[in-house]
Amino acid sequence: MSAYLELTMEEWETMFRPITNHLDENASFQNEDDEGIMFETFGEEIEFVKSHPVSNIWTYHHGDENSTYIVNGYGFINRLGYFVTELPCPPDTDIFIQVEENNYLCENCEEQHYGAAADLHYEQFSDLGKCVACATMEELKEIEKEYNANV
Ligand SMILES: [Zn+2]
Repeated sequence: MSAYLELTMEEWETMFRPITNHLDENASFQNEDDEGIMFETFGEEIEFVKSHPVSNIWTYHHGDENSTYIVNGYGFINRLGYFVTELPCPPDTDIFIQVEENNYLCENCEEQHYGAAADLHYEQFSDLGKCVACATMEELKEIEKEYNANV
């Protein structure tokens, strides 16, 4: 059995101290000093990441519904980037850091919907192509009919 831990970005940074990316002055995830901590998945940046023990490597992933998250270790699937920390992840421990929560960008009103509103969209209104607030009464009634027919 391995332990499972969910941390916020701040908790993770305090506990494990990600190092700054000295290879790219425009690296993502900039700190107060405008130094980025994310490493790219190619070229000399990935070579630098791989030169560290896997316990000091963390992978930034793209998740479902536009969410993003960081987990310990060197991963490939849906990867967006990597981090290297001064302190290693403890053995037999899985750590999860949510970066972006689920979200949905409505193409109609260009508003970004987060959390429960985004989940509701993906569960019931994804065929609509716009957010619930943008839908007409007729469209909503149509969706409700279909939804009830499928429950
Ligand atoms: Zn909308």
